[in-house]
Amino acid sequence: METRPFWLEESGPSVERQPVDEVDVAIIGAGITGCSCALALARGGLRVRVHDARGIAEGASGRNGGFALRGGAAPYDVARETYGAEAARELWRRTEAALDRLESLAGEALRRPGSLRLAADVEERVEIRAEYEALREDGFAAEWHDELPHLRPDFRGAIFHRCDGALQPARFVRHLAELAAEEGVAFHERDHVGSLDDLDAEQVVIATDGSGRGLLPELDDALWPARGQVLATEPLTECLFECPHYARHGFDYWQQLPDRRIVLGGFRDFSILTEMTDDETTTEPIQETLDAFLVELLGHMPKVTHRWAGIFGLTQDLLPLVGRVPGHDGVWMAAGYSGHGNVLGLMCGELVAAAILGGDDPLLELFSPARLLTPASGGQM
Ligand SMILES: Cc1cc2nc3c(=O)[nH]c(=O)nc-3n(C[C@H](O)[C@H](O)[C@H](O)COP(=O)(O)OP(=O)(O)OC[C@H]3O[C@@H](n4cnc5c(N)ncnc54)[C@H](O)[C@@H]3O)c2cc1C
Repeated sequence: METRPFWLEESGPSVERQPVDEVDVAIIGAGITGCSCALALARGGLRVRVHDARGIAEGASGRNGGFALRGGAAPYDVARETYGAEAARELWRRTEAALDRLESLAGEALRRPGSLRLAADVEERVEIRAEYEALREDGFAAEWHDELPHLRPDFRGAIFHRCDGALQPARFVRHLAELAAEEGVAFHERDHVGSLDDLDAEQVVIATDGSGRGLLPELDDALWPARGQVLATEPLTECLFECPHYARHGFDYWQQLPDRRIVLGGFRDFSILTEMTDDETTTEPIQETLDAFLVELLGHMPKVTHRWAGIFGLTQDLLPLVGRVPGHDGVWMAAGYSGHGNVLGLMCGELVAAAILGGDDPLLELFSPARLLTPASGGQM
């Protein structure tokens, strides 16, 4: 059984370690956020070095479910109530634009078949119906599907989000890294950063989502690591699911790839306390639940070829933390996508880069780290 994610099996381009010693910005993390930020900074004329304890895309960015969805981690109607109507509208609009940008960058790493957000029971039907209506009220495309003939009958309707996509996330992030390297960005892979003081750069960006524990204590308090577990099957004989599907508020998610294998993940809530961890290992209880769900979905148990785990960063209000880290001169961050980082990671990497380059953006206020971080004393790195 392969415990390396299916996505990372594909060999990536090798990004050369360039001899760039003096840099303006050092980035910790070579996932979607770090690579997107690096590319934007280099295109803005800055000298950039990216450090990662592992290889490019080997964190959550190469271990996820491959869903490329618009919006934030909260449903749209909840986002309107929690963040305010204008902020929620802006966030959804901007993620739709980020998805289009992702498509223009991703080439064959992205397909856009839409996605189906399913109601697993009557209660969830009421909830997702409210989200559907809120989206329509605010002019966002959304379709309601009552008929789901390809699924077992206990699903109670779904929202079809036509603009959403299915991503080969590792392929996309490696491609971003390649683009960044072409712009002169230096990548230091297998290079664990023990302390921000070790980085010889005027500005530092922390782009470690759920896996950067120990870098700053206030980040450890505000960003909670959560483990997601996934499996991939051998290719099936039939094409059963044309687009990514998710149910139970995203706790269950699956998609069928063009070669007809199923990638299925989730069920974190079946053991929520043990899954609040940054230990990147699979566990029997969650994997058994994934197997049982696979049998329910397909009516038989296919051969499972890969089982893996990954760590993402959760925040209390399900919004990312993007911008200056209060109390630390020259330190910035973009992290905490609460399991929704494929599109947000691209967008927030660019957003923090734009802020470093002197730009302003209304989303920086919504995502301000100061809302959840208690400033450290001292004011230095
Ligand atoms: C199982 C799973 C399924 C998911 N499914 C989806 C999905 O379908 N759709 C979606 O949008 N999102 C999904 N997500 C969330 C998404 O994968 C993440 O939010 C996103 O990849 C975060 O990207 P990142 O670049 O910020 O962080 P990461 O990709 O995690 O990269 C952070 C990097 O920082 C490095 N690092 C950490 N500490 C240090 C240090 N001290 N020194 C050097 N390097 C360090 C790590 O090695 C890592 O490579 C899922 C996540 C998981 C785990």
